[in-house]
Amino acid sequence: MYAPGDVRVEDREDPKIFEPTDAIIRITATCICGSDLWPYRGVEPVDHNPMGHEYIGIVEETGDDVKNVKIGDFVVGSFVISDNTCEICQAGFQSKCVHAEFVAQIGTQAERARIPHADGTLVTTPGEPPADLVPSLLAASDVLGTGWFAADAAQAGPGKTVAVVGDGAVGLMAILAAKQLGAERVIAMSRHAERQKLARYYGATDIVEERGEDGVAKVKELTGGLGAHSVVEAVGTQESFMQAVGTTRGGGHLGYVGVNYDVKIPGIELFFAGIHTLGGPAPVRRYLPDLIQLIWDRKIDPGKVFDLTLPLEQAAAGYRAMDERRATKVLLTL
Ligand SMILES: [Zn+2]
Repeated sequence: MYAPGDVRVEDREDPKIFEPTDAIIRITATCICGSDLWPYRGVEPVDHNPMGHEYIGIVEETGDDVKNVKIGDFVVGSFVISDNTCEICQAGFQSKCVHAEFVAQIGTQAERARIPHADGTLVTTPGEPPADLVPSLLAASDVLGTGWFAADAAQAGPGKTVAVVGDGAVGLMAILAAKQLGAERVIAMSRHAERQKLARYYGATDIVEERGEDGVAKVKELTGGLGAHSVVEAVGTQESFMQAVGTTRGGGHLGYVGVNYDVKIPGIELFFAGIHTLGGPAPVRRYLPDLIQLIWDRKIDPGKVFDLTLPLEQAAAGYRAMDERRATKVLLTL
């Protein structure tokens, strides 16, 4: 991305092994994330940056210390580099690893990428995936893992009513996760007809179109005046965040994964809400082995969040489609 709104596909030097813990992967599919729209829209600074942090592919080269993956393995990686061995990783928060590094700075909207801490970051699939599983495995790299973390952080589970604020790819994946985790009722907050349909496909039992205070009132009405036990915030704006706080019942859990620039949470509102909150960049690595297996066994089908597929050369058109909300999520083929 040369500058906001200016995406170009160009030839760059092939990545090389720098550290003995690195691997080079040949990327077989990548995609555009909602968070890539922040620099695209000029909210986050950008100046000739490589782009992309979601990826699946084949290991082409490994450093001398790499043991868990070998040349020829098909792998899915998290959008945050992690060693998976430090105390933070062992506690399940790999996105805050002492060696954490955002893959966005490496840029996986590319043919190849150098993945540091390959042993900790990459997870092998049981084999070369059939073509129809490619979108779902790619989704595991970020949106599925992030939506799953959000639902888990919100303690979605049996007997719970879960409300999901946001109908983008992550919100839809949180709905899928809530259903898999056994939630009794899943309320999708969406006013987009196509996304409502997908939300129902993934397990939403109710749709709320109202936003802000009206949205909060509607969820309270649906829950006997109490609010939802579990709420996922998957947008990251002032309105959506406060809607999520207001929707959570006293003692309930809010999982927030929308990247929130310039959101100001009034301390007094959070204080009187009396809720648990957990969020941030999702430790996707914690969930990857289980998610890969669920996809491999065809128990979940997260790949449906991709509603536009383009060759990598047409990445700029993909960004435009997502920016104009003509596409929920764009898959780039190589
Ligand atoms: Zn670590």
